[in-house]
Amino acid sequence: MTSSSTAPTQSSSLLVTGTIGIDTVETPTARAERVLGGSAAYFAAAASRLAPVRLVGVVGDDFPAQHRALLEGLNSVDLRGLETRAGGKTFAWGGKYLLNMNERETLFTELGVVAEAPPKVPAAFADSSLVFLGNTHPAVQTQLLEQIPQRKLAVADTMDLWINVAHDELVHLLSKVDGIVLNDSEAAHLTGVRNAVSAGRRILGYGPKFAVVKKGEHGAVLIHRDGVAVVPAFPAEEDMVVDPTGAGDTFAGGFMAHLARTGRTDFETLQTALSWGTVMASFTIGAFSLDGVKRASAADLEARYKTFARHARV
Ligand code: AMP
Repeated sequence: MTSSSTAPTQSSSLLVTGTIGIDTVETPTARAERVLGGSAAYFAAAASRLAPVRLVGVVGDDFPAQHRALLEGLNSVDLRGLETRAGGKTFAWGGKYLLNMNERETLFTELGVVAEAPPKVPAAFADSSLVFLGNTHPAVQTQLLEQIPQRKLAVADTMDLWINVAHDELVHLLSKVDGIVLNDSEAAHLTGVRNAVSAGRRILGYGPKFAVVKKGEHGAVLIHRDGVAVVPAFPAEEDMVVDPTGAGDTFAGGFMAHLARTGRTDFETLQTALSWGTVMASFTIGAFSLDGVKRASAADLEARYKTFARHARV
């Protein structure tokens, strides 16, 4: 593994779209009520620790002022693509973790403005070269992608809900993107194949160059046209896991931001990027909402990367 201190070549501009929402999360020991969440919010909080991020998303005019202030407080996040829709309701989601803190039950999903027309990508963002399509309806992801014609690499996230209700739109999206990140149960659900590597290969048949299949506490596998790579999860002790919400989005944030700051998208860089994703996810799970990635210092991030590299050495 190479360290982050490698001097960056020319960095690439990174854009994220996805939900910005209000989350209510229950764990076996604690509860967080109406905190800031959403796929794009988590992604941006993590990615911005490594590279500047342009955020495109939509909220309703009920979006709490303190949540907006939290987004505004993130360094290196350009919010010119954050639209506030008059009369609209902000995306809201509720989830409950089972005792093992791995399995989660969705209690409610209120799409609100996310069910309406997607936000506009500002003209100033149209030249973005790296695009991450955070979890939302795949038809919306496709419409957003079409607004970024100069992209060099686009990666999408998805989830079971969309595999169920928008399968064809998802398959269409896969023909337009370069990569997809999804968890092992989603990969199995989408392809009908249980084995993560075989499911990943099946997904490449839909069009992308690579698939990252996340396996929760067992790490992740990159299935790429040029090869296969694996990364373990950070070996977190029980007391490090407070709330796993956002682990997937912050994993993607660390992954994409490493590509952005190096300006590279070759197989080896993707492999190192998996480790930065893992490091970001390990901070997210240590606190509710965006707090885990926000409060880690730059030195904490570097130190955890080095610890992880030691743990994972082969
Ligand atoms: P993760 O734990 O990485 O899967 O991400 C959890 C975040 O995704 C939460 O902050 C939710 O607000 C958001 N989320 C949950 N369901 C959806 C959905 N159907 N579409 C988009 N975002 C969602």
